[in-house]
Amino acid sequence: MIGKDTLKHAGKRKQLVAVLEEKGIKDAQVLLAIAKIPRHLFVDSSFEDHAYQDKAFPIAADQTISQPYTVAFQSELLQVNSGDAVLEVGTGSGYQTAVLCTLGAKVYSIERQQELFKKTTLFLPKLGYRPKHLSFGDGYKGLPEYAPYAAIIVTAGAPFVPKPLLSQLAIGGRLVIPVGKDPQIMTLFVRKSDTEFEKHEFGEFRFVPLLENKN
Ligand code: SAH
Repeated sequence: MIGKDTLKHAGKRKQLVAVLEEKGIKDAQVLLAIAKIPRHLFVDSSFEDHAYQDKAFPIAADQTISQPYTVAFQSELLQVNSGDAVLEVGTGSGYQTAVLCTLGAKVYSIERQQELFKKTTLFLPKLGYRPKHLSFGDGYKGLPEYAPYAAIIVTAGAPFVPKPLLSQLAIGGRLVIPVGKDPQIMTLFVRKSDTEFEKHEFGEFRFVPLLENKN
């Protein structure tokens, strides 16, 4: 059973969008996506009342749904155009996946927790979100089958930048990845050529760790 989306929820989303704008998010498409997506349906019903506060929350398997500001900040840095192939590492609740789908991306996403992978694979289509491919596996390796990607987003804290992710970027492609232990530095890599990458850093964020494969 999925819950309902009501006018009251839509009103709360509008307030959340205003908070994000105040914190500096400018991308109109990203703000529109957040205004549309029923975030309260992505969190456990006991957290429903808090779903539209700018906070991170626990989901299954000791993981978190990223804070809306973080989702918006990363999505803005990705500069997604409709039709772009985008890879997400860390599907989790599927909320960021839904944002990418709403931006018109062809979304590929990887999750290493089986429980979350299964749950989110069933859940997203129920809300009408249709990522191209959800994969159960190790995000450190990326998803070479569908490369190159116009953009890659990592939604867990990476102790280092995995090489396969850089090599799966198209020329001109953008990798947005929080790098470090605690906290992480939000980092953008733009691929300039086969061998050259431009690097930009955007301050501190806190994520659950990108874990090495269990298998
Ligand atoms: N985008 C998610 C954020 C979830 S938190 C959301 O909006 O809800 C980060 C997620 O990354 C967790 O679900 C965690 O299980 C997953 N993760 C951690 N290490 C991983 C790895 N090596 N490969 C793929 N997913 C990983």
